[in-house]
Amino acid sequence: MTVLIAGAGIAGLSLGLSLHQVGIPFHIFESVQTLQPLGVGINLQPHASRELIELGLEKELDKVGLRTREVGYFTAQGQEIWREPRGLLAGYNWPQFSIHRGGLQMALHDAVLERAGDVISTGTAVTGWTPAKAGVAVGLQDRKTGRTRTAQGDLLVAADGINSAIRARLYPEEGPAHWGGTMMWRGITRAPKFLTGRSMAMIGTKACKFVCYPIADTGDGGSLINWIADLTMPEGHDWLSQDWNRPGNRADFADRFDGWAFDWIDVPAIIAGAEGIWEFPMVDRNPLPQWSFGPVTLLGDAAHAMYPIGSNGASQGILDARILARILRDNGPTPEALQHYEAERREAVNRLVLANRGDGPDRILDIVAKRAPEGFESIENVMPEAERLAFASEYKKIAGMDIATLNARAPLIAV
Ligand SMILES: Cc1cc2nc3c(=O)[nH]c(=O)nc-3n(C[C@H](O)[C@H](O)[C@H](O)COP(=O)(O)OP(=O)(O)OC[C@H]3O[C@@H](n4cnc5c(N)ncnc54)[C@H](O)[C@@H]3O)c2cc1C
Repeated sequence: MTVLIAGAGIAGLSLGLSLHQVGIPFHIFESVQTLQPLGVGINLQPHASRELIELGLEKELDKVGLRTREVGYFTAQGQEIWREPRGLLAGYNWPQFSIHRGGLQMALHDAVLERAGDVISTGTAVTGWTPAKAGVAVGLQDRKTGRTRTAQGDLLVAADGINSAIRARLYPEEGPAHWGGTMMWRGITRAPKFLTGRSMAMIGTKACKFVCYPIADTGDGGSLINWIADLTMPEGHDWLSQDWNRPGNRADFADRFDGWAFDWIDVPAIIAGAEGIWEFPMVDRNPLPQWSFGPVTLLGDAAHAMYPIGSNGASQGILDARILARILRDNGPTPEALQHYEAERREAVNRLVLANRGDGPDRILDIVAKRAPEGFESIENVMPEAERLAFASEYKKIAGMDIATLNARAPLIAV
């Protein structure tokens, strides 16, 4: 019994670790020749940290990330709209981590090799599959030589990301990712700590927004600050294509944040201080009506790429992995088990994809800007506390991170 996995990203590696935990053999095929710690910061919400901690990876998380203490929303004038504690301080039994994506991927990769042995073939792209008598024959291509071969398994799980080749085979009409009009520039800057030194801040409005959070301490009293500058582009802008590593130009966006030097953070200085800047379009994929097709299913971004709003992309991929592993343990690696997995996950995550498309919890920024475009004396007069609290709670419910529900839930995979 072997589960074949396409993609050694955060979702594919989490699935490998979870299958190993429940005693199901697996093999991961990764198209990249040598995995490198690429990407910048992401957030792991408590519902996902819990899963990695239950996989025995708490020490590794503390090595490659920081425990987030709070999240705050601020106007373009730097005024505070809403601040709430996060992770343990919020009452969760598990922390939220702000983490370097590549660092997390490498930590998961190392844990897979250490625990399960030689189970990752790099430089090997999954190109397709054919149903076999028992299971599936997966088409593979060596990226260096171009040589092709097949591998036999019981199931194929597509964890091959937002531009999934397997999803494209299942939905040939779908085409490129869906772009909603926002471009993002991201970077990492050594800068003085802001607020608690473990705070995540969303500043501005949907049309012009700055998101930042530290992912490491610099050792000299400062932080390594991960930041993203979002701008809504004029009609007709060419978003080029989804590429996680396209260099960006400061001149294309920085002047929109001139004057955003507040007494608690200096946005222009953070933008100016970045060693490298990358540009990418804010894209997602339309929710799908079906993930599982016989012995093949989709997982992580391949199933539900979402806007990076509400910090849930990687977290949802980890949840997919844990739930799929539990279901395969309980039902065996069969197409029926994949149907159970889809029934538990698809509609719930589709709702989140759409909530993020509607700007998720960040909607609060635009509503306040509309009611008080020049700022305010007291936020209470613009948006009373109960209304602000409702924003935060509603999104937590959709994302499966309601504090009481998560704390009360039994482990997905009991150890
Ligand atoms: C290089 C890179 C940088 C990123 N940087 C950021 C970032 O800075 N901020 C952010 O919010 N999100 C980033 N992401 C996305 C983020 O990691 C995902 O949204 C989230 O973690 C869900 O992960 P996933 O495992 O489903 O997909 P991914 O992390 O995209 O992983 C998919 C994996 O599948 C591999 N793959 C693709 N096609 C094939 C194939 N045909 N056969 C075999 N393997 C294949 C890819 O090389 C990749 O390793 C990045 C993704 C990548 C790949």
